[in-house]
Amino acid sequence: MSAVIIDGYTVAATVRAQVAKSVSALVGQGITPCLSVVLVGEDPASVSYVSGKEKALREVGMKDASYRLPATTTEEELITLIHRLNADTTVHGILVQLPLPRHINEARVIMAINPEKDVDGFHPVNIGNMVIERPCFLPCTPHGVMYLLKNAGIETRGAHAVVVGRSNIVGKPLSILLARKDSNATVSVCHTGTRDLASITRQADILIAAAGKPRMISADMIKPGAAVIDVGVNRVEDDSSPKGYRLVGDVDFDAALEVASFITPVPRGVGPMTIAMLMENTLLSAERVARSS
Ligand code: NDP
Repeated sequence: MSAVIIDGYTVAATVRAQVAKSVSALVGQGITPCLSVVLVGEDPASVSYVSGKEKALREVGMKDASYRLPATTTEEELITLIHRLNADTTVHGILVQLPLPRHINEARVIMAINPEKDVDGFHPVNIGNMVIERPCFLPCTPHGVMYLLKNAGIETRGAHAVVVGRSNIVGKPLSILLARKDSNATVSVCHTGTRDLASITRQADILIAAAGKPRMISADMIKPGAAVIDVGVNRVEDDSSPKGYRLVGDVDFDAALEVASFITPVPRGVGPMTIAMLMENTLLSAERVARSS
């Protein structure tokens, strides 16, 4: 058996095309959706993620009000900028690229963002609304994973979903989305305190790997016929690549292909969906403003 490869790149392109259409309708009404991505410092992975977001903004016709600040920026300076963006009625979304330099308290910075502009869905107000199933901005990567599952026709209702990882931005929100009534999966959440991880992953009808450990999910950890979603993005050394590294997921892709029913590749799997969902959230924010004006 060889699994169906879920082409996140193509699904994301379709989402972006739909967003672009709605953006052009809003522009016709005099509102150009605008996102401000704030990057502090020059962490190479963050610079690359931010460039991807800026490229997507241009592609869908949104305004880009991004800031690239030096690593020496203080927490106070960053929060002052956020307050300014909160007050700017032409800005519909604010995203602060994480991780921030160590001298800045991430939680305080996220709390400073107006929840109505928190298109990353990380503010406690949005997380709380997600938990109690009220309208909110859903965090982009978990939302992208849910979109891919639905788009591929993978049934979550009644399925046993196992999420490896419990971070605030991926594992935890994803486990909540899977367990909500609208998904109705039975969810197990695994982490470094989990005993005998393989015995749990082998029970998964849907296995989500979000641990950030290259190829840690081997074929023998996967139940035959399971749907495997690989969120991990890890750089591993590769002398044959001009960059000296290449990207791999948390799943041993080639081996898993022979066991799973569906699998996402890395790259071109979950990653492009994260950006597509960010565009969608920014559009939703601008549409809300358009409705209330
Ligand atoms: P974190 O490092 O914040 O969290 C990793 C989680 O995995 C933790 O909960 C940790 O457990 C758990 N974990 C680590 N090792 C093991 C192990 N051996 N067994 C079981 N659990 C383990 O990472 P993120 O959630 O931010 O990201 C996870 C991965 O997803 C990374 O590779 C990241 O690059 C990628 N990512 C991809 C995105 C995309 O768009 N495709 C977006 C965001 C992230 P514990 O809590 O006990 O420490």
